[in-house]
Amino acid sequence: MTKDYSSRKLERKQRRCETIIYNDVGIESSEMPTCFLAILNAGLSTGLTEESVLSNAIQYAPVQQVIMLPNKSYCFLKCHNVNNAERIYNNMHGRAGLEQRGGVVYLSYFKSLPMCKEENVWAKPLPEGLVLLPNFLTESEENMLLKAINLEDVEQSDLKHRRVKHFGYQFMYGENNVDPTKPLNEKIPNECDILWPRLKTELTKLGLPAWDWDVPDQLTVNIYEPGQGIPPHVDTHSAFLDPIFSLSLFGDVVMDFRRGSDRQPLKLLRRSMLVMSGASRYDWTHGITPRTLDIVPSETGLTVMPRQKRISLTFRRLRRGPCNCTFPTLCDSRINAQSNLAPVITDVVAAQLEEKNVHSVYDCIAPHFSETRHTPWPRVAEFLRSFRTGSVLLDIGCGNGKYLQCNNNALTIGCDRSSGLINACLERAKIIRENSSNLPNAFRCDCLHVPVRSQTVDGCISIAVIHHLATAERRLAAIREMARLLRLGGRALIYVWAKDQRANDNKKSAYLLQNKALNKKKDNR
Ligand SMILES: [Zn+2]
Repeated sequence: MTKDYSSRKLERKQRRCETIIYNDVGIESSEMPTCFLAILNAGLSTGLTEESVLSNAIQYAPVQQVIMLPNKSYCFLKCHNVNNAERIYNNMHGRAGLEQRGGVVYLSYFKSLPMCKEENVWAKPLPEGLVLLPNFLTESEENMLLKAINLEDVEQSDLKHRRVKHFGYQFMYGENNVDPTKPLNEKIPNECDILWPRLKTELTKLGLPAWDWDVPDQLTVNIYEPGQGIPPHVDTHSAFLDPIFSLSLFGDVVMDFRRGSDRQPLKLLRRSMLVMSGASRYDWTHGITPRTLDIVPSETGLTVMPRQKRISLTFRRLRRGPCNCTFPTLCDSRINAQSNLAPVITDVVAAQLEEKNVHSVYDCIAPHFSETRHTPWPRVAEFLRSFRTGSVLLDIGCGNGKYLQCNNNALTIGCDRSSGLINACLERAKIIRENSSNLPNAFRCDCLHVPVRSQTVDGCISIAVIHHLATAERRLAAIREMARLLRLGGRALIYVWAKDQRANDNKKSAYLLQNKALNKKKDNR
């Protein structure tokens, strides 16, 4: 029997989307049912939310994991078993709407899921220094505190933003700081005094140290309606001491903690006390996604929890001086100190410095430089060989091209800013041509503007390049440029040095001396 027109059309759509997914993330679809489902035509880029996929799918069977990739028009579901996946497939494929304005979603089975760090975020241990004390208050204490903070005088604001009220000191959102010289008339209500001895007892019971200062002197009350949130942030180091206490009243919510690419959600139950100390206070950001449903673990996998109104009480103690924590990444005291030290130079000046001290040097020394550098470093070669057949590899700052033949099963392309080195690279190619069919490809370009399409490269190396750039912004831009080129799941290797080289170092590089002599010659002409 021949299939009807609409089911053939549906299949063509499936095949087309499967090819896109294969090209993007390298996973294959499966004709046979598996535990892994892809929703082929709805994802973050089409405005789909994780909570709406999940609440739809769990009507038919439990779901273990949802994977939404940034800027993609598809997403993935993982089920405990094939039966569950089949139930979801049969009920959703070509049927479910998922907020797609009348359109329906198409699904396919896949052999695996894309590589991502999102697996089992709920099973991970909490960030270091984070403690959640459930049932910290009784219901009557909760009511007593709500009465004490008296929210009746808090102005109504628009639906988009949470409402706030401050005690002790005003928190200034523009600067993310407080003015210690301007205390408010309204102090933290006395009713809150019950919290501190209890908190010390609870922390001692858990074998954790209490804090080494008196009691908090600043309180911010946040009123969140369902759908409202707070962007990821770290409480300004120099503004407040460690730890920070946050009491949840009225409703539950999921708070997200983030450090680098690590994300960890935490369910904050009504009447619980959250203690953020150490790394969790200084090195992780915390925030609440603005949405009306939260995703939480259930006995069968994941489920959704509707948000209610929630009132949070954040208690802090003013620091009155710079922070001396051991977590420099998000430390405003450290960041400000560094930006005061660094001389301010513009991009144009930076580019001129590089032209004089880097590019012209390399162009002069290229032949000799190339002769003395022909053996690939084993670690770099090993990295390049770790890519599978057919991968596209890019060496940014390839010099004489010594890494371009490390993996003959991949297409390796090099680029360099120095025309002298590109010539050396092509000279080497002439020699290699006699022995090999795999010729080096190299072109000249600036590592801040690589003329290669975004997300097309499987592997990228930058060996001894980035430290040649004159400012931190330009060095960061070079890394961003590499990230732009990499496809999802792609990998990069960066080597840099000269971090501790002093400007007035007595022993100057032979190359710099040589260049000085050349510059002199030029000047004398
Ligand atoms: Zn700090």
